[in-house]
Amino acid sequence: MSRSRRDKRRAQFNARTKVPTMIVCPNCGATTLMHRACHNCGYYRGRIVAQSAEKAAE
Ligand SMILES: [Zn+2]
Repeated sequence: MSRSRRDKRRAQFNARTKVPTMIVCPNCGATTLMHRACHNCGYYRGRIVAQSAEKAAE
């Protein structure tokens, strides 16, 4: 494996493992991942898609 090919492979690795885009949840204001349900309140695309443990027990 030449230095050129090795370094190109590692450049690809870094590009794919970058930190995902973070957004502020419009429902509770917590910082969460884009395109994912909020880890704090479960809000995503205008509704609650994942209830928290204590909410589910009610
Ligand atoms: Zn939230």
